[in-house]
Amino acid sequence: MADVADGGGESVIDSSERRSSPVTPPRPLIALARGFLKRCPHCGLGRIYTRWATEVKTCPVCGLVYEPTEGDTWAFTIIGDRIPVAAAIVIVYFELGSRLGPAALIAVMAAVCAVLLWTAPNRWGVGVALLYLQRMWWPDPLDKLPPSRPA
Ligand SMILES: [Zn+2]
Repeated sequence: MADVADGGGESVIDSSERRSSPVTPPRPLIALARGFLKRCPHCGLGRIYTRWATEVKTCPVCGLVYEPTEGDTWAFTIIGDRIPVAAAIVIVYFELGSRLGPAALIAVMAAVCAVLLWTAPNRWGVGVALLYLQRMWWPDPLDKLPPSRPA
């Protein structure tokens, strides 16, 4: 946690060398899987969240800033969070609602809500990974990504 407090720690590479270092991004599916597992999409080692979903701003291992500007993951959160919730409610209510009795329907909806709530940090982690991929594919000169670790 001390590394997080001081900005993720400085590597032995100074900033001018870091900028010129070739960045080899992980494959997109690897980055997304890391995000789903609530790990840094860049190095796969640092945690995106502590506890259940307490956000960590910077990867304590590689120094990746997960969300450089507040709200950068908003669109990905909407896509990965609200749409699955709405789809699950629609499917349960309209597809299963006519076949199940009220008690079973409430039980199924409660189970779906529990699963969606339980996996929310995983979906938010995918949002962080999608933002990371966006930053890799369409880099911003002001947005510094850490170099990749050697393979
Ligand atoms: Zn990292």
